[in-house]
Amino acid sequence: MKILVINAGSSSLKYQLIDMDTNNVMAKGLCERIGIEGSLLTHQAGGEKYPISIEMKDHSDAINAVINALISKEHGVIADMSEISAVGHRVVHGGEEFSGSVIITEAVKNALEACIELAPLHNPPNLTGIAACEKAMPGVPQVAVFDTAFHQSMPASSYLYPLPYEYYEKYKVRRYGFHGTSHKYVTQRAASMLGKKAEELKIITCHLGNGSSITAVNGGKSMDTTMGFTPLAGTLMGTRCGDIDPAIVTYIINKEGKSAEEVDSIMNKKSGIYGVSGVSSDFRDVAAAAADGNKRAEVGLKMFYYEIKKFIGAYAAAMNGVDAIVFTAGIGENDKTLRKEVTSGLSFLGVEIDDEKNSVRGEEIDISASDAKVKTLVIPTNEELMIALDTKEIVENL
Ligand code: AMP
Repeated sequence: MKILVINAGSSSLKYQLIDMDTNNVMAKGLCERIGIEGSLLTHQAGGEKYPISIEMKDHSDAINAVINALISKEHGVIADMSEISAVGHRVVHGGEEFSGSVIITEAVKNALEACIELAPLHNPPNLTGIAACEKAMPGVPQVAVFDTAFHQSMPASSYLYPLPYEYYEKYKVRRYGFHGTSHKYVTQRAASMLGKKAEELKIITCHLGNGSSITAVNGGKSMDTTMGFTPLAGTLMGTRCGDIDPAIVTYIINKEGKSAEEVDSIMNKKSGIYGVSGVSSDFRDVAAAAADGNKRAEVGLKMFYYEIKKFIGAYAAAMNGVDAIVFTAGIGENDKTLRKEVTSGLSFLGVEIDDEKNSVRGEEIDISASDAKVKTLVIPTNEELMIALDTKEIVENL
C-alpha cells in the first residue's frame, strides 16, 4: 500500500509518498510560492533533487504538479495515480471534536470549518489542501490527522484554565496542546525500544525544536502538555515567549501604547531565545554566541534548560513516577549539551545519562547510564510516517 502524506500551508505544500510495506519514503518534496509569482516545486526521489519551475495558481495546481512529478517518466516513482491507496492530511486543529484521526467526510469538513476560529492561520490551508486532493483524486480515501488529537485524553483538571467558566463554554478557551502526532510517534517508538506496551509506561516526551512542547504520557495517553490554547504556551522557544505572567501583557500595552495585536506579535515573533539573547532564534547560533562569551545568550540557554527540567519534575510528580524521558525534534535530537544540562541534577529521580552514548546525533538511541532507573531516549520524530500509519489503519478498517 502506498500513502501520500500532505501538509498544506497557506502558500506551501509538503508531501511524502510512503510505501507502507517497508515504511520507506519513495519520494518527497515541497511546493513553494503557491499563488505567488515564481512558484517552485522541489521534488526528491532516489537521492536526487529535482527543482521544477511551474505555475501554481492555487493548491489544486500544486496537487496536480505533485502527481505529475510522482508519475513522471524521468523522476517519478509510480506508474500512475491508481497506485496511491489513500491520502493522509496533517490538520493542525481538531478542537474538542476529534480525539483521533478520521476519514474525511462532508460532516468532518464542516467540523473543521468550525475550528477555523481556533487556528485561523493553519486550518484554512489544511482545508484547501483537502479540497485540492479530493478534486485531483476522486474516490481515493482522504484521512485527517490532527496535531491536537493525541491530547484530547487530558482530564479537565489539566485542560481547563482558571478563568470564568463561561469562556470555556462560549469560546472553548482551554488547553488543547500541539505536536500531538510527534508525541504519539515517539511514545510508540519508546515503548518498542523498551520492549513494553505504551499502556504500561509513564513517559515524558520532550519535543524541542523551533517550537517546543513537553508531554506527560501516562499509559500511552497524554495527561498534560505544556502548550495550551495556542502554541505560544510552555517553555520559551525560538521566538515565542512560552509561559509568562499574563499581567505583563496589559502592563506593556499601557507602558508602550501598543495594541493587543502588536503585543501578541511580539510574544510570538520577537521573544523566546531570540528576545533574550538578541542573537538569533536558532539555538545553534545562540550556543555559538554563548561560547564566545555573550552573557545574554548564555542566560537564555540556561533559562531553556531550567524550564525543561522544571516541567520534567512536574510531570514526574503528576504521574507518580517516570519510566522514560524522550528527547526529539531539531534540538532534542541533535543537541547533546542540552540533553546533558537538562538531565544533570535529576539523579534523585533515577535519571543518569552516559556521556559517550549522548554524543550520538540524530539517531534512535538509549543514552541512559547502565544503572539508571529511568531511561533517557533520543528518538528522531517522524510525523509524516505517523500520519501515514494512522491513515493506513483507518483505510484498512473501512
Ligand atoms: P525543528 O523545528 O524540529 O525543525 O527544529 C529546528 C531547530 O533545531 C533549529 O531552529 C535549531 O535551533 C535546532 N537545531 C538543529 N540542529 C541542531 C544542533 N545540532 N544543535 C542544536 N540545535 C539544533
